[in-house]
Parts: sequence; C-alpha cells; structure tokens
Amino acid sequence: MSTYPDVQLYIDGTWQNAVNGRTIPVIDPATEEQIGTVAHAEKVDLDRALDAVAKGFTIWSATSPFERSKLMRRAADLLRERRDEIAVLMTLEQGKPLDQSKAELGAAADVIDWFAEEGRRTYGQIIPARFEGVTQMAIKGPVGPVAAFTPWNFPVNQIVRKLSAALCTGCSIIVKAPEETPASPAALIKVFADAGIPAGVVNLVYGIPAEISEYLIPHPVIRKISFTGSTPIGKQLAALAGLHMKRATMELGGHAPVMIFDDADVEKAIAVMGATKLRNAGQVCVSPTRFLVQEGVADRFTEGFTKIMASAKVGHGLDPATVMGPLANERRIPAIEALVNDAVAHGAELKTGGRRIGNKGYFFEPTVLANVPKTARIMNEEPFGPVAIVNRFATVEDAIEEANRLPFGLASYAFTRNTATAHALSQRVEAGMLTINHNGLALPEVPFGGIKDSGYGTEGGSEAVDAYLETRFVTMAS
Ligand code: NAD
Repeated sequence: MSTYPDVQLYIDGTWQNAVNGRTIPVIDPATEEQIGTVAHAEKVDLDRALDAVAKGFTIWSATSPFERSKLMRRAADLLRERRDEIAVLMTLEQGKPLDQSKAELGAAADVIDWFAEEGRRTYGQIIPARFEGVTQMAIKGPVGPVAAFTPWNFPVNQIVRKLSAALCTGCSIIVKAPEETPASPAALIKVFADAGIPAGVVNLVYGIPAEISEYLIPHPVIRKISFTGSTPIGKQLAALAGLHMKRATMELGGHAPVMIFDDADVEKAIAVMGATKLRNAGQVCVSPTRFLVQEGVADRFTEGFTKIMASAKVGHGLDPATVMGPLANERRIPAIEALVNDAVAHGAELKTGGRRIGNKGYFFEPTVLANVPKTARIMNEEPFGPVAIVNRFATVEDAIEEANRLPFGLASYAFTRNTATAHALSQRVEAGMLTINHNGLALPEVPFGGIKDSGYGTEGGSEAVDAYLETRFVTMAS
C-alpha cells in the first residue's frame, strides 16, 4: 500500500516546502482522518514560480516539437508504470473507487500521448501572395507561460489536459492544483520531471485559490489562463483575464439533460446512465442530472434506474466491492442535502436516497427525485453529487425546450432509435457535447468543453492545441 506523503511545491525543478513553512491538512473523505499535509504557497513562493516559468518558457519554446513529444511520451509511459501506486493515493484523498482512480490514470497517459503527437502537427500556412516575389506566412507559436487552476474531482485528469496542451505547443506552466487532493497531482508532475522536462517548464503550487489566481492572472509573465470549476468563479476569473488581455479557457459547470424517448433501448439507457450517474459520486461536470423521459417509457425507466441507484454499494474506495465512494469534501453534504430538501418541499417525489449515510465519512445516498417542479433549486443549480432528477415529457419539442432552458450548456445525452429525432437533437440542443445511445465523451481526440454559461474553449481534439498557440503573420518581399 502506498504511504500518503506530505506534499510539497515543485518550483524550478525542485520539490520544496513553502518558504514560510505553512501547510494545509489533507483529509481522507471516507474516514475524516488527516492523512497528510500539503505545502501552502504565498506570494514569495509564487514569485519564485513566476521567475521559473519565465525561464522555463525560454528553454521549452526553443526545444523542438520532436524532442518535446519524446519527453512527453516518456512521461506517459512512467505514468502507466506507476498507475497502481498513484491510484491508491488518489482514492485516499478523493474517495473514488480504486478502479475509477486507475481508469483516470490510464486515460491521463492516453491524453499525454495524444497531445505529444498532435504537438508535432502545429502547422502554419503559406498564403498565396498577390505580388511576385512576396512570401506570406502565418506562423504558429506558443502563447507563453500558462497559469492553470484545477479542481478536486479528477485530481489528475483536470491537470493533464491543460498540462499536455501547454507542453506540446512549447508553453511552460504553473499548475495551481487542488489542496483537497494534492498527492496524485504531485505524482503526475513527478512523472514529467522524471521524464526529463527541464527545470522551470512545469511548476506546481497549492495555497488559497483566490489569492493565487488574483496574483497570477494579472501578472505580466502569465499569458494564458485555464480554469476548471464552477460557473460563478469562472466568470470572475474570466473577467480578470479579460481585464489584463489574457487568453482564457473556461471549463465550467453543467446541468446535463438526458433525453430518453419512447423508441429508445430503455434497458441500455438504464444501464449506461446508472453507471454514469454513480461515477465519482456524481461529482463530474458532465454528470447526467436532468433525466427527461417520454411518457411511454417513463415508469419503466424510473423503476429500473432507481433500482440501480438504490442498490449501489457505497463505501471506502479501497474496498473492491464499492461502487460509489464518499463525497470529496464535507461542504458538499449540506449543499446536496439542502437541494434535496428544497426539491421535496416544492413537491418532488423522493424515489430513493436523500440523506447522509452515518456520521463518519462524507457518504451520501444515491438519490433519485421524480416529478421535480422547475421552481425547485435543483432544477436550476448544478447538484454536483449523486442526485438524479427524473421528469416526464410528451413531445420531442418539449424535450428540446427543457434541455435548453438553463444557461448551462456542457454535456447532454439522448437515447432514441429514431434518426429524425437524433438529427433534430444534434442540430438544436444547446450543449458543447451531445452523446446519443452511449456515453462517448471525453476521449483525448474529441472536443471537450461547454457553451453558454458552461464556458469557452475546448480541452480535447485539435482545437485544444490551438488554444495554446498564437498566430503571427510574416510577409517577405525578395
Ligand atoms: P468552489 O466554487 O469553492 O470551488 C470550485 C473549484 O474552484 C475548486 O477547485 C476551487 O479550488 C477553485 N476556486 C474557487 N475559487 C477560486 C478562485 N478565486 N480562484 C481560483 N480557483 C478557485 O466549490 P467547491 O465546493 O470546491 O465545488 C463545488 C462546485 O464547484 C460544484 O457545484 C461545481 O459547480 C464546481 N466544480 C466543478 C468542477 C468541474 O469539473 N467543472 C469541478 C469541481 C467543482
């Protein structure tokens, strides 16, 4: 079994404590016991990281894409070798079942490999000139040092998309990783260090998120921001980035609709969506939340889906029988309880769950609410927990209208055998991602991101690379 470490900062190629020696405790959400500490950076540490990331940019942007790719692929291989060991740390700090931690790390290695390859194809353009002897070139280059802010729900995968896109294009980076789940991010950074990425190119800090973002975003060294987290915080950080003319990628909250039509394979919808809802205790930005079920199959779906939710084994993530772990931090319990109680007070029917389990560990029952009125808070706010809403609809138009009702536009799901319905959804659902008849989201090579209040920019596919590049135009006459 891996021993949980006291996690340090990584600045300019050196693992180090914060200058003032301060630390933050790290808690196992399944036991509420302190398992370690993480270094708490302050301005003096951030200044060191800023000096390092500036120096790192000079070195890394001058390193060939071929060489960058080789080092990144070595990091991916090291991550695969260390997967089982790091997975235990992730489960201890975050709570998710061990097989989900392993899957997250396997997916992270694939992300690194994909970006490592894609970085070798950041082609510019030669633009035909109007005049003889003139050569016109659009040249792509790295945008500069990046500041990335990542949350605790996928401690490694939220970092790896930003880090890989930055590194493959020649950017250096300061990662502000989650204080609640610091060890697996540090293990990720270590694979890059051990793979031979030069000092200063990758830096890792922890501390008070607002203090760090307020300092790094306006700082002249930083040229690009990437944030994953809630919509209200994302709006604040995007505004700050805008004020200082910094490029920004914002991967924010969602409230994913799942449209299940009368002609769907209902058993498949139950099985796929049951597993998807329970994953990471629903603490997933693309977690299915509003199940909109057509009247003809509503009873069958509700019964089957509720059975899966009610029978899921909830426990410590290291117990192999566990299907769903605890919530990652204590504040999520009152937040989810309040949403469930409010829904019931508004007339929703509680099909299963709705309460905290025990009083040790942040366990919460998988919960299904049916017939929830639009006025309930949970119909409008992201629950970010193991709670599903199951409501009915009559027509395709009704489903699309409800799917698009909220300002969020991240993930959406649908189950139908009717190609006309599928086509209408693909044209009209206001979401950055739509997956029909399966869960096909989040592969490295496909776009991953939201529209509307769910943010801008994508963290998968070729556009994710573009977000770290800037175009310069050069014209030359002979
Ligand atoms: P929160 O809003 O306090 O924090 C969300 C994340 O943003 C955390 O990682 C936090 O460290 C970071 N953060 C907060 N203020 C910041 C600031 N000023 N500068 C930089 N980073 C900052 O909420 P929480 O209790 O940690 O999580 C609950 C909510 O956050 C959820 O309802 C969900 O909407 C959102 N969330 C979204 C994701 C995602 O994958 N999109 C992940 C985690 C949390």
